[in-house]
Amino acid sequence: MTTAMNDQPLTRTTVDGEHLWQRLMALAVIGATPKGGCNRQALTELDREGRALLTQWCEAEGLRVRTDAIGNLFARRAGRQSDADPVVIGSHIDTQPTGGKYDGCFGVLAALEVIRTLNALDIETERPIELVAWTNEEGCRFAPCMMGAGVFTGKLSLEAARGRTDGDGITVGEALDAIGQVGRDADCPRRFAGYLEAHIEQGPILEDEEKTIGVVTGALGLKWFDVTITGMEAHAGPTPMHLRRDALLGATRVVEAVNRIGGAHGPDGRGTVGAFQVSPNSRNVIPGQVTLSVDLRHRDVETLASMVSEFQNTLAAIERDTGLETQVTPTADYPPQFFDAGCIDAVRRGAEAHECAYREIVSGAGHDAVYISDVAPAGMIFIPCENGISHNESEYAAPKHVTAGANVLLHATLELAGKAT
Ligand SMILES: [Zn+2]
Repeated sequence: MTTAMNDQPLTRTTVDGEHLWQRLMALAVIGATPKGGCNRQALTELDREGRALLTQWCEAEGLRVRTDAIGNLFARRAGRQSDADPVVIGSHIDTQPTGGKYDGCFGVLAALEVIRTLNALDIETERPIELVAWTNEEGCRFAPCMMGAGVFTGKLSLEAARGRTDGDGITVGEALDAIGQVGRDADCPRRFAGYLEAHIEQGPILEDEEKTIGVVTGALGLKWFDVTITGMEAHAGPTPMHLRRDALLGATRVVEAVNRIGGAHGPDGRGTVGAFQVSPNSRNVIPGQVTLSVDLRHRDVETLASMVSEFQNTLAAIERDTGLETQVTPTADYPPQFFDAGCIDAVRRGAEAHECAYREIVSGAGHDAVYISDVAPAGMIFIPCENGISHNESEYAAPKHVTAGANVLLHATLELAGKAT
């Protein structure tokens, strides 16, 4: 006697976690690095191979694959209501030069596994479901990051994106043409009923608290500045301490202040000086100039604004106390994002249905979903990654967490797309 898969109770439909894991490993072969990571940068020959494999898998599930003008790849599973706006699920498959197997790929392959499960169980949805793999999320070969989602949402024009060049002077347009991934926007969905993205956390919080799922409620707002501190170069020997204007001494006060400001505003405050150049960087010359980067983040607009003014007050105090000159240039400004309440609830109910330990979490990093949330109801599912490490060849997510994240995506997708009865 055989038991049809349809005979399984569907109250808690689950994905084939082993199959999903095998596909994650198979995709990671394309661009595999000796240290176990992946180097499959956007719009390279390896990206073409990755897209070809993904396309082959999607077509085997009966999905209709096409790309839009910036190469965002969509794969459609029909719904009962063929004209309804689709529920879109996915992420990206491009990687950093020394990236891992999970960042982005997990979200795309979890989406494919969700669709494969619906096919296997013969579940029809009211709305169509579209898998998506966004072009150039990482932004390492071509800036800016989140390029495909940026063009999709109108933050970046197609012409501007196609004109961006890599280190060899090759444009995005030339690279897209070379890998044959230029399609027509008219063939792809332009309006989403909802967008769900599963992703590794890229931070240590879930692992630290032994949670399986992060129900992502939004993303931290971000403000970036370049700071130049100018003093006076002088010989380290003949110049007494009280007659110096040491730019590095002022810069260390900025580093200390930025970290203090980040820590003083609750668990969602962040303050980082990540880049630092000393001039002339000579052991017996008092530093005349230091340039450094400042990165301030918070989930609350007003708190972020007050963090910025504390930072500016610090610079004013340094000028007053030391006679150094400071110059500040803002280089990026993204407001905090809040995901859609319906998407957040769908993810939470998915975590509850699968009895996953979960917590609400705010994304500290940028994601395609952050852009999409400007134009469609969007939400994200985080799973833990080992030691919070990503953008690293040693990036790792445990199979049980990969499976759990895909199960939550399945539940939430079914809720948004509606199971046809
Ligand atoms: Zn990613």
